[in-house]
Order: sequence, then C-alpha cells, then structure tokens
Amino acid sequence: MNVASIFQFSAQDTCRASSVPSSPSATAPTSFPDPLPPSSHETELSANMSFISHNIIPPEDLQCPVELDDEDDGNLEISGDGLGDEDEFSIEGDEADDERDPGEEDAGMQDMTGLHPRRPMPLWLRDAFKLKVTKSAQRNKKGLPPLYANHQTFWFPQPSTFFILQWKVVSPQNLYNPKFTLWDPESLCPNGIPCPNCCTWLCRLCHISHPRRCVSINETFIIIGYRYRCPKCLHPVSGKNTVTFRNWDTRILAVLPSELATKFPARLSHRSGISTTLAGWMWSCFQNGMGAKQFSDALCVQHLLKYDELHLQYLDLLARCTLDGWSGQKYEAFPLFENRGPQGLHGFVPGAIWIQDMYDCYIEEHKSKFNQHTAMLSAEICALDHSHKITKHITKVNGEEVFTALLTVTNQLGKIRSCNLVATKSHAQFEEALKGILHSLKLYSHILLYLFFTDNMADKQFLEHCFLSLLESVVPVEKYQNLEPLVVPDNVLIFI
Ligand SMILES: [Zn+2]
Repeated sequence: MNVASIFQFSAQDTCRASSVPSSPSATAPTSFPDPLPPSSHETELSANMSFISHNIIPPEDLQCPVELDDEDDGNLEISGDGLGDEDEFSIEGDEADDERDPGEEDAGMQDMTGLHPRRPMPLWLRDAFKLKVTKSAQRNKKGLPPLYANHQTFWFPQPSTFFILQWKVVSPQNLYNPKFTLWDPESLCPNGIPCPNCCTWLCRLCHISHPRRCVSINETFIIIGYRYRCPKCLHPVSGKNTVTFRNWDTRILAVLPSELATKFPARLSHRSGISTTLAGWMWSCFQNGMGAKQFSDALCVQHLLKYDELHLQYLDLLARCTLDGWSGQKYEAFPLFENRGPQGLHGFVPGAIWIQDMYDCYIEEHKSKFNQHTAMLSAEICALDHSHKITKHITKVNGEEVFTALLTVTNQLGKIRSCNLVATKSHAQFEEALKGILHSLKLYSHILLYLFFTDNMADKQFLEHCFLSLLESVVPVEKYQNLEPLVVPDNVLIFI
C-alpha cells in the first residue's frame, strides 16, 4: 500500500499560500504569488470573508486531464511496509562501554551491520532534548529532577497545539511539539539499584546521548534515559571500572520495584520501541484475526491522520494572514512526513516484519508461562486434527517443507491442550505430546480423558494405548449383536 498524506497531492504551482515540496528533502521557503488586482466585488467579499481570497487547496480543475495509473489498483491491497526509518538519532558515540542488553527485542537488528548508520538528530528535536536534559540536571536534596519533585510525573508537560498557534511566529517545527518522558529510576530508589552482574549499587553517570524514539498509536515519543555505572565490574577490554548500563536495560527493569518498572512506557527494539499501550493493542488485534500487515497499515493511517491535522492547522494559520501576501512575507513549507532533513519530521511507522518480530519476542519471552497455563487445563473430552496451512508459511530447507502439519489437540471447552509441528502424520510424531497430556492430567489431579474424537479410525488403538482411561467402563459393541443367537432345536440329537 502506498500510503500518502492527503496534502501530498496538492499541485505546487497552484497552491497559493504554501506549497508542498516536490521532493522529501526540499524545504525551501515559499511565498505567496503576486495576486491579481481584485475587482470591487472581490474586495467587498474579501473584507467580509477573508479566507476566500486565500484558498489553500485550489478548487478542482474539471478540464485537467485525469491520470490513470494501473498501479493504483495495488494501493487497495495491504502492504505492511511501514513509513520512514527506525533509526535512533545520534549526537555522539558513547556506547562502547555499555553492556549489551540481552532482553532487547531483535526487531531492527539488521541495522547492526552498519549499513544504515544513524542519522543526526533534527535540529528542532536536538534543541528540545538538550533543554530538557539541562532542566533535569538540576536536582533537589533528594536527588530528584524537577519533573519528579514538582510535577510528580514521568512525562514532560506538553503545550497543546491551540496555544502554539497563538504565538506571534509559528513554524512547522513548533507544531511538531515532541512528547518527552524522563526515565531515571535510580533517583526513585532510595536503596539504590543493584548491578545485574555483581549486585554492587549502581551510580548515575550521565544522560544517554541517544534519546530513544518509540512509536505510539498516532505519534512517536522520546525517552530520555541515563547511563548507570557499576563501580566494581571491570570492562573486559580496558580492564577499568567503565562498565555502564543504559537504564532502560531489561536487566535493570527486572530488579526495580514492580510499581516502578511498570511505569516504563515502552517495549524496546534494537534502535526504537513500541509504547506499552500500542503493544497491548497489537496483542488484541493479532488475537482477533488482524495480521501484522493490516496492523502496520492501520498504524500508518493513524500517524498520517495526525500529521495531516497539523499540516491543515498550519495552512489554516497562514490563510488567516491576509496582508502577508501584499507585503511579500514568506513562509516555510510544511515538510513531508518522512522528510529526514535537519528540519524534517523524520516520521516513522514500523513495517509488518518489525511488528511481527516484536510480537514473536513477546511470545518467546512468555513461552514458559503459556506452556504452564496450557498444561493446567483439563482434558476430559479431546479432539485431534492435523492442519496443513501454517506449515506453508514456515521456511523451507532446500525447497522442502520441514514440517508437514500442525497437530492440535483441543479439550471439551475448545481450548488448545497441545500444539505440535510434525514432520509426518505417523503416530510416533505425537506420541510424546499425548503422553505429556496424560502426565499433566495426573499431576494436577484432573479427571482422566474418557472420550477422544478423531477423523481417522486408524488412531483408535494408538489412542487407547496412550490413554488407558479410554477403555474404562467401556463395553465394546459386538459385531453381530443384531442377529438372534443360534439355538439348536430340541429335536436335533447331537452325537459326539
Ligand atoms: Zn557490577
């Protein structure tokens, strides 16, 4: 799907107040074209309805030839490509001494090859970031930054767009209005935070120069973090006490009090992250039949909607400046969503693969809990079936499918009791899985299985072999029970 902002289609040569640059990198200021001398009727109208004299989006030209692009048909389909780069912005490289976070999600790990070096932080974001870091460096007696001490929140106050629009001079960058959160749990733990390696108390060294940008439902937000140093651990290369941890490291989060750890607002990938709210939505959508591609496309729409709203408000503001057209006042064009220039928005919406990786990591992280939950379910009546659909989506080796089917056993409530990928449909492939069900039923004192549905009667003996409880109190139906038993007539004498 080629998702585009509605304003990207406005023609540059006909837009009177502000034109959209034709390329993502073009940010040159634009100006009002010299208007034609107004007629007396027009002057009267413009006095009463000034917005009419400065149309932002010109009326449709009915004589304009219509372009028919066959590729447009493809736009109706889902793509899940996402928008922009997940590049974490950089100012300087100071990560050499950081411990690698083993819990970091693998999404975006391909960028570790160095093929996609980090881009410099856009100027508007760099200034806002530095301002907040400087403010947060002023600690009170308890070591708390003003945000924690005075406002008692993790989120920096953010002016609403309405109030920004009241400023004397408003640029597109003012309207970006990035959302910041400050993460410094060390200042909130009076007893300190133990080092994940040696349990020595960590101390705060400095702020992390790479603020982490995370994706939320219709916007991105920035996490300001700190680097904590262990006074005892020695760096394997330098042999000095220079081992540091980024304070959003999963090992740091793991040792925090739970009420504090849950306030961390994101699940991080290698260079970016997804807000916990959006992650919750992602789980719900996936569990209700929405795929990663659809989810990515829906996310694109939400982000572009927010961007378009800002763009429209900016154009609306310019349209109200009715005298600027005469004075030759110039205005900066509103950069495109994906503009990666120094003044660009650097918009980012993750693609389907990235989202899928994040979800897979979540599932793998909780694998043991899912298995435990499944093992504790009852299984009095079960059904067994093979599915050949999912195996088509699993990577092939030398053109051959590794697994031919997914064997699923469900219980009397329709809940999955066992789920196994099998190489063949032979009984040996899932004997261990069935024995596992029997073991857990006995372990948790459930009623043993007494009925089994299958679409293959050849399974009968095998299932009875695995679950002897299937044979209890069962009277086999005799083969010729519908026939009268043969009785020898009395008049027949039998000689032996
Ligand atoms: Zn240590």
